[in-house]
Amino acid sequence: MNEVRDVIIIGSGPAGLTAAIYAARANLRPLLIEGTEAGGQLMLTTMVENYPGFADGILGPELIGAMRSQAERFGTEFIQANVESVELSSPPYILRTADEEFRCRTLIIATGASARLLGLPSERHLMGHGVSTCATCDGFFFRGKPIAVVGGGDSAIEEALFLTRFASKVTVIHRRNALRASKIMQEKAFENPKIEFRWNAVVEEVKDVTRGRVTGLVLRDVLTGELSELEVDGLFVAIGHTPNTSLFAGQLKMDANGYLITHHGTLTNVPGVFACGDVQDPVYRQAITAAGSGCKAAIDAERYLEHVMVEGLARGSSIHPPPTTSSLS
Ligand code: NAP
Repeated sequence: MNEVRDVIIIGSGPAGLTAAIYAARANLRPLLIEGTEAGGQLMLTTMVENYPGFADGILGPELIGAMRSQAERFGTEFIQANVESVELSSPPYILRTADEEFRCRTLIIATGASARLLGLPSERHLMGHGVSTCATCDGFFFRGKPIAVVGGGDSAIEEALFLTRFASKVTVIHRRNALRASKIMQEKAFENPKIEFRWNAVVEEVKDVTRGRVTGLVLRDVLTGELSELEVDGLFVAIGHTPNTSLFAGQLKMDANGYLITHHGTLTNVPGVFACGDVQDPVYRQAITAAGSGCKAAIDAERYLEHVMVEGLARGSSIHPPPTTSSLS
C-alpha cells in the first residue's frame, strides 16, 4: 500500500498494454490497472485485418489477449479495478480505487475513448456481427453490400465516403435535415452517387438478433412517427466518441471535446504524467497508432525517471520535484 511505484498505467487497450510491455522490459515493474471494460474497443470488434504482422487477420479479443500475455511475461502486474480518483498536484501521484490506494512516480494514462452508441439492445447484441463503430476496421467486410451509417457529423460523412469504396450503397441516417459536418465534406457526400440520405430519421431497431447478423433496420421518421424498414448488411454508428477523461477534470489540460492535450508525443501538462492512445487522439484512433503512442509513453516515462533519479541523487533526496517538461524535449 505504501510502496511508491515507478510506473502505473491506467487502461488495458493496445496503448496501455504496449506501454506495459516497454515499461516492464525496462525493469520498471509496471502496475497496470484494467478498468471494467478491460481490453478497450478492440474487445467489441471481430476480425482485425489491418494490424501489421497478422497476414490472415486476428480477432480483436485475441490480439488483446496476446498483448496482455506479452506484458505479463515481462513482469507487468495487473489489477482489475476502476480508478475512482487521482491526485496529481505533486509527486508521488495518488490513485484510489474502491478498496485501495496506489502511489507512483510516473503515471501513464491510456483510458481510451468510448464510441457513443445509440443505446439499443439489438445494437449491442449485433456489435461485431454487422454493427460497427469503425469503418477503417470493418468496411472491407461489406464489399458489394448495402450498408448504413448513422450520424451527421464529420465522422459519419468521412466514414460514409470511405465505405463507398466497398459497399454497393451507403445510406446516411441523420436525425435532422441538415448535416453538422464541414461544408467540404458535405459537398463530397452529396456528389457521391453511392451515398443516399434518410433525413429526420432514427434507428429504432437493428435486425435480426435471432439470426445473429444484420439484415436491416427499422427506422422512425422523427417528424411523422412513421416506421419503415431499410435492408442493409451492416450498420456503422458514427455519432461521436467520448474520451474517458472525467477522472482528470481540473487536473490535466483537455481540449473542448475532453481529449487530453499532449505535447512532444505523450507529455501532459503535469510532469511525470503521460497520455497515450485514443484518450489524446481524436484523429487517427487506430489500434496500431494507439500501440505506437503507448510505446512512446513508456519511453518518455523511463527517461523522466532517469532524469528524476539523477537530479534527486545530486540533491540528496530520493523523490524530488520533477523537472520541467522542456527538459525532456
Ligand atoms: P459530432 O461532430 O459530435 O457529430 C455527431 C453526430 O451524431 C451529429 O450529427 C449528431 O446529431 C449525431 N448524434 C449524436 N447523438 C446521436 C444519437 N443518439 N442518435 C442519432 N444521432 C446522434 O462527432 P464527430 O462527427 O465524431 O466529430 C467529432 C469532432 O471531430 C468534430 O469536431 C469533428 O469536426 C472532428 N472530426 C473531423 C474530421 C475531419 O476533419 N476529417 C473527421 C472526423 C471528426 P446532431 O447534428 O443532430 O447533433
